[in-house]
Amino acid sequence: MKINSTWDDLKLKQLEDLWKKGLPISKIGEILGVSRNSVAGKAHRMGLPKRTSPISSEKKESLSGKKNNEITNKIIPLKIKLRGVEWSRIKCCWPEGDPKQNDFKFCGKEIFPGRPYCDKHSLLAYTNSRENS
Ligand SMILES: [Zn+2]
Repeated sequence: MKINSTWDDLKLKQLEDLWKKGLPISKIGEILGVSRNSVAGKAHRMGLPKRTSPISSEKKESLSGKKNNEITNKIIPLKIKLRGVEWSRIKCCWPEGDPKQNDFKFCGKEIFPGRPYCDKHSLLAYTNSRENS
């Protein structure tokens, strides 16, 4: 057994005290003669409050920022895809399927004169709007 992984009651008490004083984890390790990882692991198991340093919170922010970018990158290609679709104004633009799925498409049948949809879908659309109002 390595000496620096040994914890006794005195060390645990010291760890708790030093932790609550807000000493850096590496400093606590130095005082107690254990590794930084050992201090962090022990503190975690003891349920001591998480340490927040300006560096770690900054890291967190950049991580969540990255996450947001990933989501945006997923959404934008779809929007571009839909905008880039060559679309004739004389075809029904009733959406079919789930916009998030690849099989999403528009109806594409010839429109009912004066309406944006084919006869079947304009009936659907106008029935729905009557029911909602
Ligand atoms: Zn249609």
